[in-house]
Amino acid sequence: MDVVLEQLKNGVRRFRKEVYPKHAAMYAQAANELQRPHTLFIACADSRVDPNEITSSGVGDVFVTRNIGNMVPAYGEMLGGVSAVVEFAVSFLGVRHIVVCGHSDCGAMKALLDPAAVASMPTVTSWMKNAHAALAVADKLYERDLEEGTGRTRIEELTEQNVLLQLQHLKTHPSVAGAMALGELTVSGWVYDIGSGSVRIAEDGQREFTPVETIQLEEGEGGSLEHEVILAAYRNFNARKIDEVLVLVHENVDWSNGLAGGRIKGREALRKIWLLQWTSLDPTSEPIRIYKDEEGRTVVLVHQILRERGGLLLGEQQIEEVFTLRDGLIVRMDFRRVTQQEGGNVDIAPPRA
Ligand SMILES: [Zn+2]
Repeated sequence: MDVVLEQLKNGVRRFRKEVYPKHAAMYAQAANELQRPHTLFIACADSRVDPNEITSSGVGDVFVTRNIGNMVPAYGEMLGGVSAVVEFAVSFLGVRHIVVCGHSDCGAMKALLDPAAVASMPTVTSWMKNAHAALAVADKLYERDLEEGTGRTRIEELTEQNVLLQLQHLKTHPSVAGAMALGELTVSGWVYDIGSGSVRIAEDGQREFTPVETIQLEEGEGGSLEHEVILAAYRNFNARKIDEVLVLVHENVDWSNGLAGGRIKGREALRKIWLLQWTSLDPTSEPIRIYKDEEGRTVVLVHQILRERGGLLLGEQQIEEVFTLRDGLIVRMDFRRVTQQEGGNVDIAPPRA
């Protein structure tokens, strides 16, 4: 008996028995629709790195390609699997974001630092060429680290510089360059720390990696995924990062229309409304408080200041929004109460054309 194969089969059985039944409707729906992943995730093949797990993504959310050292050969260098995935994801699937994700304790980074260790593997050795420029930069930075006593290690520098280099390579692909020029695609570089589960991100154009904040929860609400998702959504909304909010929102969202009344259904409808709304919401206001009501629903108390594009004050108000989440994504949002104002909708004047 093949012990490993049996272990895999047992995993399939457990999936069919325990996981599948909970999401049967979602899988059935996914089977009948074209996939529409929002993100292409380029990660290392390392068995300890799971793109879906670390981004809490569901079925159909993330298009993934993995290879040794999360590398992207520059266009024309090595046309092959990675180049084809990039082209397909951008040109056909229309992904709106590409992540290049490195990680701690990466075997490929170790091999770059010690080429003799992989000298007996000609294909691996050849593949490593895609990161040689990163090694040169990392060594310069490491010299500075030693002088300044930053405590950073050579492999830490290399891991980051490799991610940044692969982002540069990515932009040499015509599909990526074209979509970025049209503002339809963004990219970011990540480093995932296996031991702590933390992720640091360099957004496009940044050379420094910043930790994704772990949100401090109020007492009694600790560890709530809802809390974190909603706070992340608000933070991105106020930063005008529409795609980053939308990835936190379920495809079949059903949302109160604060602008014109009625309801907004689906991510694309939400995107349109927000683009209108942003012209009047003052991003510097909005202190928020998230709590559970007596029925266990997640409520957000928002203080909004509304301005016209010219800066003219349209009004200030306090509203309560009631959120419903499913599978870690926002499904529904309703205004429960609007103080200082009648009715259930925030009255925001439509922006001037
Ligand atoms: Zn790795």
